[in-house]
Amino acid sequence: MSSYDYDLFVIGGGSGGVRSARVAASLGKKVGIAEEYRYGGTCVIRGCVPKKLFVYASQYHEHFEDAAGYGWSVGETSFDWKKLVAAKDKEIARLEGLYRKGLDNAKADIFDTRAELVDAHTVRLLKNGKTVTADRIVIAVGGAPNPHAALPGHELCISSNEAFHLETLPTSILIAGGGYIAVEFANIFHGLGVKTTLIYRGAEILSRFDHDLRKGLHEAMEAKGIRILCHDVMEDVTKAGEGLRVRTKNHGTLDVETVMLALGRDPNTKNLGLEAAGVKLDERGAIVVDEYSRTSVPNIFALGDVTDRVQLTPVAIHEAMCFIETEYKNNPTKPDHQLIPTAVFSQPEIGTVGLSEEDAAKAHAELEVYRAQFRPMKATLSGRDEKMIMKLIVNASDRKVVGAHILGHDAGEMAQLLGVTLKAGCTKDDFDRTMALHPTAAEELVTMYTPSYRIRNGERV
Ligand code: NDP
Repeated sequence: MSSYDYDLFVIGGGSGGVRSARVAASLGKKVGIAEEYRYGGTCVIRGCVPKKLFVYASQYHEHFEDAAGYGWSVGETSFDWKKLVAAKDKEIARLEGLYRKGLDNAKADIFDTRAELVDAHTVRLLKNGKTVTADRIVIAVGGAPNPHAALPGHELCISSNEAFHLETLPTSILIAGGGYIAVEFANIFHGLGVKTTLIYRGAEILSRFDHDLRKGLHEAMEAKGIRILCHDVMEDVTKAGEGLRVRTKNHGTLDVETVMLALGRDPNTKNLGLEAAGVKLDERGAIVVDEYSRTSVPNIFALGDVTDRVQLTPVAIHEAMCFIETEYKNNPTKPDHQLIPTAVFSQPEIGTVGLSEEDAAKAHAELEVYRAQFRPMKATLSGRDEKMIMKLIVNASDRKVVGAHILGHDAGEMAQLLGVTLKAGCTKDDFDRTMALHPTAAEELVTMYTPSYRIRNGERV
């Protein structure tokens, strides 16, 4: 019999926290979990899930236009922002309920309170001031939007958190950043009829992706009417009438109704009692963990965004399952962070797995690059001017496909399955002997027989 109140206490009710608490409890461990806001965490409450619902909403505008080419006459249309937000909130509340139910069914104790560490085995529940003790503790408190405190007027800006609950849809918005959130929300707001501008400090949006997709997406977004200002930053934001005035370094002054910051997310490690417990942080404030998600304190573990390894929901869940295997099933398992498929739910969408051409060129002496750019069938009758890009990066020495990149409809769905093939170590020959599925866009992935070009020692030949 353990001398602690709990075998496991989890701080944070997001993807990683709920998974570790629920599974440990279902294995018969005595588990407590505390969440200060809402169960489900960033992904469910103000991230992936509501974002995807907004993406769907923002696409109808083009669907209505495209319908004409297929013989449909769509009558007058209108959009009701409040109705969308209410419908989204209802769905999020349903999902939150499922998260709680899962914990409850597994017989975990659920606390609706902020919790902080007192020492390596003690947690204080702030709502009632009580302390509980635990043999093991998992910290899975996630991250929060970078507030860009150095920007004068940053307090006038919103982040993705507020974007999900705006009272009214703005008429114009300036979004700062060139990553996942900035790009996805630029497309969402534009699709809903908001005059949208993106400002990004670098040469091209989505710095960690393959250059072809970055350029292709940039062009497609501009063609839709989204203004993209690269090589630029905001100098300050001030109030101007009902809206805001933004001075930029290189593009003059912009007047907009709303400014949204999407400049990365910081680990939520402040005032958590980590110092008191002896848990080490890195220079970005993320919890330092070993390969098994163990912190510098042997009985304290950290999972998900708070460790700033890869800030993605499925990664946090995977890390939680590895923690369970290691600590409660006597099966030491390290999280595998290689070949993670990922999507940017932009319009067109990006789906990718493995190395970009640039990174592959650094890792391998010779590459074969297979690239196709074409108009998807759906765009023929609709008349929409859009292109799909598909790209396979092959290591010439062993013919392994080391990167697969798609821009276009359902790119994320395809990237999920390409993730299986790359993980299985498939070669280009495996792709070549796979029968095409006709007529699909994905068939292009198995019918690119001749390399478009080669990269030798970093040079295109
Ligand atoms: P990202 O890391 O994707 O992008 C941050 C952007 O902000 C980059 O373009 C970066 O520029 C820029 N930036 C950072 N600091 C500054 C600064 N001081 N001034 C100007 N620009 C700056 O972060 P996001 O906030 O978009 O998203 C957070 C995380 O959430 C992502 O990393 C991702 O893992 C996850 N996410 C995943 C989604 C998905 O799977 N579809 C969707 C949304 C979020 P630079 O490139 O030059 O560094």
